[in-house]
Amino acid sequence: MAKFILIGSGLAGGLLAAYLGRRGYEVALYERRADPREGNMVGGRSINLALSTRGIHALEQIGIADEVLKHAIPMRGRMIHPAGAEARTIFAPYDVDPNKHINSIGRAALNTTVIEAAQRYPNVHVKFNHKCTDVDIDSPTAQLLNTSTSQPLSASADRIIGVDGAFSAVRQSMQLKIGNFEYDESYLAHGYKELTIPPGPNGGWRMEKEALHIWPRKSFMMIALPNPDGSFTCTLFWEFEGPRSFATTKTDDDVRRFFEEEFPDAVPLMPNLVDDFKNNPTGSLVTIRCAPWFYKDKVALVGDAAHAVVPFYGQGMNAAFEDCVVLDECLAGFPEDRQRAFAEYFQRRKANADALADLALENFIEMRDKTASRTFRAKKKLDHFLEAALPGIYMPLYTMVTFTRIPYATAAHRARIQDALVYAGLIVAMILLVALAIRLLR
Ligand code: FAD
Repeated sequence: MAKFILIGSGLAGGLLAAYLGRRGYEVALYERRADPREGNMVGGRSINLALSTRGIHALEQIGIADEVLKHAIPMRGRMIHPAGAEARTIFAPYDVDPNKHINSIGRAALNTTVIEAAQRYPNVHVKFNHKCTDVDIDSPTAQLLNTSTSQPLSASADRIIGVDGAFSAVRQSMQLKIGNFEYDESYLAHGYKELTIPPGPNGGWRMEKEALHIWPRKSFMMIALPNPDGSFTCTLFWEFEGPRSFATTKTDDDVRRFFEEEFPDAVPLMPNLVDDFKNNPTGSLVTIRCAPWFYKDKVALVGDAAHAVVPFYGQGMNAAFEDCVVLDECLAGFPEDRQRAFAEYFQRRKANADALADLALENFIEMRDKTASRTFRAKKKLDHFLEAALPGIYMPLYTMVTFTRIPYATAAHRARIQDALVYAGLIVAMILLVALAIRLLR
């Protein structure tokens, strides 16, 4: 059986190893970090994530969805915290169907579950503390550094898959060695910082548990997702530079003043605010688009390595998991022609990854600005009304992206048509109302 080397045992790496292991391939998975089960999960990335239909489907195929969802907290809608000390929170359900929800799940627990799923196959071998430094894409051979012993080593296989995240070493090797490799990275002017709302005195949640909390503040925002231990992980998305920004918030008083002005209801719930703010890293938010995602039948990219997106649609991991399903289907579809399998996988995923990148950027504006507005909430209500009135015909964009497996590009296209029809319908209704009013007045 062919041998695969996978670089990176993050969320998609672990899951892909399980898929390939199930097909009987020999799989060697190299991860630069220590085993997450040793409790050394290096931070800097979100502590919890929203898992939805696409991700759940991918986990189901390998039989671990129930295990993962056991530790998840359902989030049934957005809990908006408007500006102003006296403002009351507003709950906006995600869907007209109250049973539809997204799931807050811990990154470390999920990472462990996918790695353990892969290790159930005796043909899958996971090697932690092995950093890939370069890939010879023709042989193909990975150059690795054992970070425990500082010993370099090389490993060859029939194919190498880069599942090594947004700053992929495998992709960098492809970029250097494939003449017409297309690459584009763009950073937001905003960074993010994670902060904590600890559990209440009795171990309970200090805010509504089954919601994704948002403090929209036009050009920036904070969100909070619940954790099973009663805590919330908050993420502040804020400008790096500017008169009011990460750069200008230097002293403890600066931090307190900013939070008291902007998030007064959250401050009493955040006893470690200043320490968290000072000690936790400020991450950057990048969109990466590249092409092709494969080289002959030898190398391919999966997950963030192929298409990192900003986190505002809660879909990066879900899309990475969906990649694993599609790649597995393509490998099964063309067992004798791996280059065709890789090409088919790229063809099925690329337009969808690009569409998701755009949707994620647009949703930042929706979350940080529009969620606070009455018009936005009225549009959501209209969406839900139309969804209930026209089942299977009208589906809001959020529903298509989050609660179905309709390809992202199709969902975006369908939503544009729906919006045009709705706005046209509203204009016609307005004209008819005005005409009726004029007639009645005569
Ligand atoms: P990663 O999870 O980044 O894994 C890559 C792995 O490769 C890591 O383990 C890394 O250590 C390893 N690695 C890297 N370089 C090397 C090397 N040279 N050698 C060996 N190993 C290497 N997505 C959602 O679906 N829902 C959300 O709610 C959500 N929230 C997010 C919030 C934030 C703040 C951020 C930043 C992202 C969020 N995402 C979310 C996106 C999600 O985190 C990513 O899409 C997902 O982690 C991608 O998985 P991956 O396996 O491709 O990459």
